[in-house]
Amino acid sequence: MTYEEIIRFHGHECPGLAIGYKMATAAMESLESLKAEDEELVAIVENDACGVDALQCVTGCTFGKGNLRFRDYGKHVFTIYSRTTQTGVRVLFHGKDIPEGLRENRSAFTKWILSAPSDSIISVTPINLSEPEPARIRESIPCALCGENVMETRIRQLSGKPACIPCYEKHQKFE
Ligand SMILES: [Zn+2]
Ligand SMILES: [Zn+2]
Repeated sequence: MTYEEIIRFHGHECPGLAIGYKMATAAMESLESLKAEDEELVAIVENDACGVDALQCVTGCTFGKGNLRFRDYGKHVFTIYSRTTQTGVRVLFHGKDIPEGLRENRSAFTKWILSAPSDSIISVTPINLSEPEPARIRESIPCALCGENVMETRIRQLSGKPACIPCYEKHQKFE
């Protein structure tokens, strides 16, 4: 996907998308040297802002494919690694060399980001995940109240019985 196509996918051009694009392309360049195959890539994003759209386009990692994870840490960090080799990169946007006052002019800022040398705004650190990924076996359990099947990881305990989140919350209200 070209940058133009990514803007169309995202709906507008903005600094966040440009930053995400720079982060994702820098990650892919590093991963290429690690010889990671596309199909086995996993991305972890630590924010859910504009830049994640660029990451999805560049890496092909999406929620639907199960290889995009969101950790709500509010950080400008993407971690991309190979499921097989458990190696990859952690990309951080630090923006150290952004000229004072440039952020106020969104279009000038966007242009600046796109032409800036990567290491003046982001850092790429190789990572080695010592912990193997937990197997993705997800049992579904019926909720004791509504009877609907729920992924095991989303089950709440209600007086010792498995409950889905909506039922659990409804019950909490009446307590
Ligand atoms: Zn945006
Ligand atoms: Zn329920």
